[in-house]
Amino acid sequence: MPASVPNPSASDRVDPAHTPLTALPGVGARVAEKLAARDLHNLQDLWLLLPRQYEDRTALTPIRVLQPGLTAQVEGRVEAVERGFRYRPMLRVAISDGSQGTLVLRFFHFRAAQVAQFTPGARLRAYGTPRPGQHGLEMVHPSYRILGADDAAELSEGLDPVYPAIEGIGPATLRKLIGQALDHLPDEQALELLPQAWLQERKLPGLRDALRIMHRPPKDADVAALLAGTHPAQRRLALEELLAHHLSLRRQRIALQAHAATPLRGGTLADKLRKALPFALTGAQERVYAQVREDLAKAMPMLRLVQGDVGSGKTVVAALAALLAIENGRQAALMAPTELLAEQHLNNLRAWLEPLGVRIAWLAGKVAGRARETALASVAGGEAQLVVGTHALMQEGVVFRDLALAIVDEQHRFGVHQRLALRDKGGEDGRVPHQLVMTATPIPRTLAMAAYADLDVSAIDELPPGRTPVQTVVLSGERRPELVERIRAACAEGRQAYWVCTIIDESDEVIAQAAQATFEALSKALPALRVGFVHGRMKARDKQAAMIAFKSGELDLLVATTVIEVGVDVPNASLMIVENAERLGLAQLHQLRGRVGRGSAASTCVLLYQPPLSMMAKQRLETMRQTNDGFVIAEKDLELRGPGELLGTRQTGLAAFRVADLARDADLLPFVHRVAERLLQESPQLADRLVDRWIGSAARYAAA
Ligand code: ADP
Ligand code: MG
Repeated sequence: MPASVPNPSASDRVDPAHTPLTALPGVGARVAEKLAARDLHNLQDLWLLLPRQYEDRTALTPIRVLQPGLTAQVEGRVEAVERGFRYRPMLRVAISDGSQGTLVLRFFHFRAAQVAQFTPGARLRAYGTPRPGQHGLEMVHPSYRILGADDAAELSEGLDPVYPAIEGIGPATLRKLIGQALDHLPDEQALELLPQAWLQERKLPGLRDALRIMHRPPKDADVAALLAGTHPAQRRLALEELLAHHLSLRRQRIALQAHAATPLRGGTLADKLRKALPFALTGAQERVYAQVREDLAKAMPMLRLVQGDVGSGKTVVAALAALLAIENGRQAALMAPTELLAEQHLNNLRAWLEPLGVRIAWLAGKVAGRARETALASVAGGEAQLVVGTHALMQEGVVFRDLALAIVDEQHRFGVHQRLALRDKGGEDGRVPHQLVMTATPIPRTLAMAAYADLDVSAIDELPPGRTPVQTVVLSGERRPELVERIRAACAEGRQAYWVCTIIDESDEVIAQAAQATFEALSKALPALRVGFVHGRMKARDKQAAMIAFKSGELDLLVATTVIEVGVDVPNASLMIVENAERLGLAQLHQLRGRVGRGSAASTCVLLYQPPLSMMAKQRLETMRQTNDGFVIAEKDLELRGPGELLGTRQTGLAAFRVADLARDADLLPFVHRVAERLLQESPQLADRLVDRWIGSAARYAAA
């Protein structure tokens, strides 16, 4: 580490960073509690509570020159007020400003006191985004302020920060509190944790300056950059935040790997399976299996994520790994997110492993009574060599005799906390199981770097030979009738089809109703076919029964909501129709499409859309039409909508970013990656302070 790393102990005799918020005037026990509920405990937490966006109230725009879609601030007098009740209560306030323009402010929620304020002639200032209305432009729910006669109503000097909402604390109060906290910002020396050289090289400001620019943008600040999130102040904070997150994940990994694990060597059993399989492993499977073997041979727990598109053949790799544990006289467990998927694994693994003499136990919610007791006893006693079940395996107080390898399918539904819980499932000798995590949601390389810094990542980036790529067709919803014919033709050839109904932004109830209507219409239009129906509001048992009927060929057509998204394998299904495909994200469309094209027959996926298409939707559908490659789609997805949704953020903790945006700041990651290792080795205390600053109690919780 360069010698310029500041020495904290010299200057922070009084440590403002950790001063509790109750030290601020106006923060009593009640307010402190509300802040604490959002993990805001000390001054430092408020310094780092960064604006979500900015509002530009530095100028007034004459009403006449307002442009639809362009946010602006206006000032005018109330001309007319109208209260209506068409479909719901509504308040319309017309204002004008002498620029010969009229603007309507429209409210759907309002209180009587508010209505009383809008007396004709009253002067007010409003800030919002105009859009075309019935009578010229209107702003819906603008923020506004009534101006008194002697109100000087000065304009803002710089951009106004907009902070995340905190329940029970109004925006004005919050702004005031943050302002007070900022008054206690120590000087740069005491505050800065990053070496000067890093910052100078990248022309980034120090922390103190960066915080002040973000919270109180000066008059001459680069507004466009701030609004776009690319201002050097934001980049600087993003750099520090990404580094802190990375360090925190690396530390978790180091802590876990400080435990011992059983080295799993050999491979005779695994070779037997390979010989018995009706296919040869693909090059990608060989490569990943070799990586896994190398990890397992160590006396340190493996922490590896295997990414592989649907159908890339992850299960075989998992089975080979399990055999290594079994050959060494230890147990392996395989967990899936749903019973249906767990059962699918069970069937595959039984077919592959039982001929080799492997004893498999099955533990799922529906295994009850005597069967369950027997299964639990065989797991605890060690007769069961492989245990297959849902993720609940980890929480149900299942006791293993000798668990040496835990395999988790569909990582994005499996949290860091659960991963840590595995630590405690090892043997009595304090050994921790190796962990193999498999996911079918490809994540762009840059993101994987940030999201899984605690895991090693491998990719099975090749499909088994002989698969015909799914052909994707994008059609307007008007062409729906043609598709009925297409289904009839496919099923006449002995194939099966899916019809997927999607309605986003509606309750499950509404989706179920719409899907029900489609189900009835299709059943009527295709009387010769056996049509099934699954939706999210069905009982798990009924849902599963329908899926199993489809899988076993008792149904020709399955009408479904997006519940079929994950992992169901029906090789004979070769046609999928997705309604309202424009409403789904790329990752979801790709997952859905992965349900077909699993057999040798040429498959088709028809994406029906309702015109008009937004630019984004058009790009998504076009991407789907052009490629079947999950990694390409993931990159495009990242570009189109950013990383948050991509990762199903809650579990990964990535939603917690305050300023960093993985799509925008991805270029910082290689640097973060590089310096994090050095920091951990050479300046562990500095690493601690960075993690404490940005992640604080959340990290303490995760490590507990
Ligand atoms: P996923 O990665 O989606 O979990 P699976 O492991 O379910 O994929 O594999 C999909 C199908 O491909 C299975 O029927 C499996 O037996 C088959 N398969 C796996 N590897 C190969 C291979 N190397 N060659 C041919 N078929 C394979
Ligand atoms: Mg799978």
